[in-house]
Amino acid sequence: MRLTQAYQSAAPGADMELVQIERRDLRPDDVAVRVTHCGVCHSDLHALNADGGPFPLVPGHEFVGEVAAVGPEVTEFTVGDPVAVGNIVDSCGTCAMCQAGQENFCEVFPTLTYGGHDRIDGTVTQGAYSGEYVVRDRFVYRRPVTLDPAGVAPLMCAGVTVWEPLRTWNVGAGTRVGVVGLGGLGHLAVKLAHALGARVTVFTTSPGKADDARALGADDVVVSTDGQGMSAVAGTLDLVIDTVSVAHDLTPYLATVALDGTLCSVGYLGPVSLETMALLVGRKRLSSGGSGGRPATQELLDFCGRHGITADVEVLPSREVATALGRLGSNDVRYRFVLDVSDLG
Ligand code: NAP
Ligand code: ZN
Repeated sequence: MRLTQAYQSAAPGADMELVQIERRDLRPDDVAVRVTHCGVCHSDLHALNADGGPFPLVPGHEFVGEVAAVGPEVTEFTVGDPVAVGNIVDSCGTCAMCQAGQENFCEVFPTLTYGGHDRIDGTVTQGAYSGEYVVRDRFVYRRPVTLDPAGVAPLMCAGVTVWEPLRTWNVGAGTRVGVVGLGGLGHLAVKLAHALGARVTVFTTSPGKADDARALGADDVVVSTDGQGMSAVAGTLDLVIDTVSVAHDLTPYLATVALDGTLCSVGYLGPVSLETMALLVGRKRLSSGGSGGRPATQELLDFCGRHGITADVEVLPSREVATALGRLGSNDVRYRFVLDVSDLG
């Protein structure tokens, strides 16, 4: 076993504690990553507060670092390589989803970076608020060295989760894209859609974020509580990506979708109720998505390398993990906390 330090929670709502955890000995196709930066995703907060979830829990599923060691069958990576890992660390590799490059939807099960079950020994995976992570080589990605590593980490969950819908719905020059919620996922959706050539409208509950939204690449900003502003954009958007972290009514955002357009809800995951007439009129689609397959993940990293795109991050030392989680919970982040975990042994 390999030992590493990690920030762990013992029970739902409990404080984060610095502990030592075990990582498995390297299998032939394993890569040990020396983690330097790990993003703080709102999903981490959901997991840390989930009754009945797998505890003790080390969160963290968007991270960067350098290769520290490789198993004997690893050919793509060598010690010292700059790499990145997201929230899927294994899949069966043979089902239709895996064959289609959508390992994130593996029909057996995609192994989540934390709170998942290792495919081989069944142990519960522990995340990357930690000094080291051991991962199967297929789920390690090359990151552009020209980009600030701290700003790359959030691309691996927040980024790819919005990238897949942008690519699925062929967003390009002139596409009219809406982004609901300007947080970790939302601000990357704005940057990426803008870089793809789209005209971007941001919907926010925070009027104070309007200037930021424009600086990130938004053409229009609508405060979602402003009925007149919402009416003014009715039926105008080809794709709306909803990243809001709480349950909410989708109807006002469906109303902004154009004929044959799509509302893609990737934020809050849970039951929603819907008046289907809101879909019927305009033949609209309701979709979702989560994380990304291997091809889309590497494509996103390469795209960001070419376009100089990183997340806007506030980097905190790992010992300030509670501050990051607390401020994230009160919507006080612009626009992603990243923990510097390079001090963890
Ligand atoms: P975040 O940084 O906290 O951003 C969420 C945004 O939602 C906030 O910035 C805020 O935007 C808006 N919001 C927050 N509370 C709200 C409320 N009460 N009413 C209306 N809007 C509110 O979170 P994130 O990390 O981007 O994650 C967003 C959601 O996506 C989370 O639920 C997370 O679990 C989920 N997620 C899903 C996947 C997936 O695979 N599908 C992947 C990662 C994350 P404004 O201030 O602009 O209104
Ligand atoms: Zn995440």
